[in-house]
Amino acid sequence: VYQIKHVQKAFGDKPVLKDINATVAQNQVIALIGPSGSGKSTLLRCLNQLELPDSGEIDYFGKKLDLSQSRSKDDQTPAVGMVFQSYNLFENLTVLENVCLAPMRVKGLSEDEANQLAEHYLDRVGLAEQAKSYPQQLSGGQAQRVAIARALAMKPKVMLFDEPTSALDPEMVAEVLTVIKELAEEDMTMVIVTHEMNFARKVADEVWFMDEGVIQEKGEPEALFTQPQNPKTASFLNKVL
Ligand code: ATP
Ligand code: MG
Repeated sequence: VYQIKHVQKAFGDKPVLKDINATVAQNQVIALIGPSGSGKSTLLRCLNQLELPDSGEIDYFGKKLDLSQSRSKDDQTPAVGMVFQSYNLFENLTVLENVCLAPMRVKGLSEDEANQLAEHYLDRVGLAEQAKSYPQQLSGGQAQRVAIARALAMKPKVMLFDEPTSALDPEMVAEVLTVIKELAEEDMTMVIVTHEMNFARKVADEVWFMDEGVIQEKGEPEALFTQPQNPKTASFLNKVL
């Protein structure tokens, strides 16, 4: 799905991504872990062109992404769904309308078609009952599940998650992780930035440990968590596990 080749990025004179090389295969679930400021969000944002690398190349389904122009949040790489820590729902629209918006505006679906689609995806995230509610009436966990339904309604080929549970109260983390786990079971291709190590260990096919702008280690979760090869990985895991 993605081939990331020699990607570099700096903010001012601060290098944030240093020669990133990685591949995301079809149906693969990648967990991207690492300390704060290591470049995880920046890398994820490069994958849907919210950020532009300074050099290097990203292939998306075999085609080079145009890295000459970044996109706005509303105009992302086709067929890439992204879910952020803050759910960014439109407060003045109902849950159903939030999910319908992009399929109607971007894909030109009729209201009926969009409603049907939205109901389907709301049902999948367990929120069929909340379709007529407004975002303020939802818990954080529910709001994040709406954000996931909204992304899914665009039928993405890849889902990118940037700390989807970090802003949630602890009792709501599980309901969001369950939805993501179900997507993994349905073979959705995903890259998930997360601090939930147990989740990463259970759900990911591959874990990337990032530190200081470098993917220091990649591996199967069991191996990486129990026998890290890089001392930096070991030291990070020691702190968080
Ligand atoms: P966290 O776990 O805290 O989310 P992260 O691994 O996602 O961290 P990034 O957000 O990718 O880290 O940031 C990497 C570095 O780049 C940080 O030092 C950050 O301050 C810097 N940075 C990120 N975005 C910008 C920006 N738009 N302008 C300037 N510096 C930035
Ligand atoms: Mg981040």
